[in-house]
Amino acid sequence: MIRIYKCIDAPASLAETKAYDGEDVKRQLLHDQHGKCYICERIRDTDFEIEHFQSQEGHETLKQVWTNLLMACGYCNRKKLHHFDHLLNPLEVNIEEVIEQRLDYDQKKALFQSHRADEASVETVRLLQRVFNGTHRMRTLKEERFFESAMSAMNRFLELVNAYLLNPNAANEKAVRDELAIDKEFLGLKYWIIQNNEALKQTFAKDIIWNKK
Ligand SMILES: [Zn+2]
Repeated sequence: MIRIYKCIDAPASLAETKAYDGEDVKRQLLHDQHGKCYICERIRDTDFEIEHFQSQEGHETLKQVWTNLLMACGYCNRKKLHHFDHLLNPLEVNIEEVIEQRLDYDQKKALFQSHRADEASVETVRLLQRVFNGTHRMRTLKEERFFESAMSAMNRFLELVNAYLLNPNAANEKAVRDELAIDKEFLGLKYWIIQNNEALKQTFAKDIIWNKK
């Protein structure tokens, strides 16, 4: 999960209709979020939903408010529902800096750690843990498949990173840089791989700024 930049101007249908999920809203969110779910950062071509950051339950007045709308995948939306109404707001907070995000390959678990102790950080960690590690001790089939796909994507990235560290030539550098582009998946996890290695940090510092101000 990383910071998101969203167009300031609200799509017209929010004022002109009673719907929050008009085609113009979907189009703008897909564009601004580079086709990725804001929670899991997977690219969703067709499986995407307009998500209320503050859930509809108890926040009726925010139903059509542009700043309250984000694009999420069905998988993450089901996990969030109305249980997470105090998350760090990715439109305002550099999530990738505040929440340390990594995969433990031996334990087959994703580890999230907040560098702050406030309620929003704790809740954001809790949601990410649910999304990546499942809701119960044993993952369901969907949760299992989610984690496997995240792990294989990150394995591919680590292979490129290791190739670059062994042989830091231009081609290997470009291969890593391409994987850090704003429209690529799992940037929050990639951020901490770069951040935790001095050599990588020096070369790729400018590539992990993304939507930060
Ligand atoms: Zn998602």
